[in-house]
Amino acid sequence: MREILHIQGGQCGNQIGSKFWEVICDEHDVDTTGKYKGADGASHMKLDRINVYFNEASEGRYVPRAVLMDLEPGTMDSIRAAPYGQIFRPDNFVFGQSGAGNNWAKGHYTEGAELIDSVLDVVRKEAETCDCMQGFQVCHSLGGGTGSGMGTLLISKIREEFPDRMMLTFSVFPSPKVSDTVVEPYNATLSVHQLVENADECMVLDNEALYDICLRTLKLTTPSFGDLNHLISATMSGVTCCLRFPGQLNSDLRKLAVNLIPFPRLHFFMVGFAPLTSRGSQNYFALSVPELSLQMWDAKNMMCAADPRNGRYLTASAMFRGKMSTKEVDEQMLHVQNKNSSYFVEWIPNNVKSSVCDIPPTGLKMSSTFIGNSTSIQEMFRRVSEQFTAMFRRKAFLHWYTGEGMDEMEFTEAESNMNDLVAEYQQYQDAVADEEEDYDDGGAQDYEN
Ligand code: GDP
Repeated sequence: MREILHIQGGQCGNQIGSKFWEVICDEHDVDTTGKYKGADGASHMKLDRINVYFNEASEGRYVPRAVLMDLEPGTMDSIRAAPYGQIFRPDNFVFGQSGAGNNWAKGHYTEGAELIDSVLDVVRKEAETCDCMQGFQVCHSLGGGTGSGMGTLLISKIREEFPDRMMLTFSVFPSPKVSDTVVEPYNATLSVHQLVENADECMVLDNEALYDICLRTLKLTTPSFGDLNHLISATMSGVTCCLRFPGQLNSDLRKLAVNLIPFPRLHFFMVGFAPLTSRGSQNYFALSVPELSLQMWDAKNMMCAADPRNGRYLTASAMFRGKMSTKEVDEQMLHVQNKNSSYFVEWIPNNVKSSVCDIPPTGLKMSSTFIGNSTSIQEMFRRVSEQFTAMFRRKAFLHWYTGEGMDEMEFTEAESNMNDLVAEYQQYQDAVADEEEDYDDGGAQDYEN
């Protein structure tokens, strides 16, 4: 078994993380008490790889391999009180009382640093019971203090202790459209600085894009976190589908990384989902493969406020779910690539992979999830960087961070690391295949022989 250990931290991390568990419990037919409630006939698909995310306790009870952490008790209290609250192992709730006050430094260096050993103890215990753990997944926001500061502290500690295991993150990027805390660009930039070095793959969930989808596509006038999180949990379910159900493509975290990451620092993925539906409005109408593939490549369906048409895809993966013809999926994917060839770097041949999983998400006949490594993601980093620089130039709000013992230097380094990242994306966006001669007559003659 190749287990994944899930960790959720801070308010946002805990909220999206517990939604994720609700959705996957439902997909695997695990009820609120951890019991499998599905029909025997379907159990092969639903249970074959359930150990990737769940431990099996006595009496056939499935328990999420999840660690929940926070610097204040509130969010976890609500999780415990929610319908799936009893499914988690009580020992795996680790929390403090102090709060991080949206201050990355408190999460990373002071309050969070005090609590980190208790979290690591629980992580270690879970890791020890694994047969052959493939890696970790962390859910957090980058704009606050706990998920952001303490989350990245945990990621770096885990990297130290488990250097050869994969680290996947679901990272929620801040947007002023959704939040009114001014220091979020600081917290996000300091986090990106860490994620570039210590995470292997990051699924970017950008509140700016999620908000726009709710407003423009789902026509919700005042989107709530619940609405944004509905999009996030659908996406997380889609992204992890290939890890949870039997299949070929991207069947573990390392294979996913190998297919998607041509250069180690460029591991921030744009994710897309189709069809987009709002909370409560499940639609059962039959969608077609061409429709799904049209939508999934559409900028409007991306959970990141960046337009793929302003950049090029280094790599991409498309996962379809439901009953459909694999041949049709392959044809559609080729069609998209042929029609839009200028949006794919030509120096990585066959850079789009696709797969089909028979089990659709709950409430839909079929769906598709898209993971793209697009150079256009630099637009989002630029947005955060501009907001960061505007304040940092005047050293605004810096005292909150230096007051926790942080050095200004770390801000400067984080800023330049993110700007370097943007420059690297740009460099590969502009790169063309090497000189013609690589493809010239020499090769052609070979074929004729
Ligand atoms: P922490 O508890 O210190 O980690 O702080 P938060 O998780 O509250 O971080 C604040 C950032 O997360 C802001 O950018 C918020 O907009 C965002 N955020 C907080 N809760 C949620 C949530 O449930 N869903 C989403 N999508 N974003 C959230």
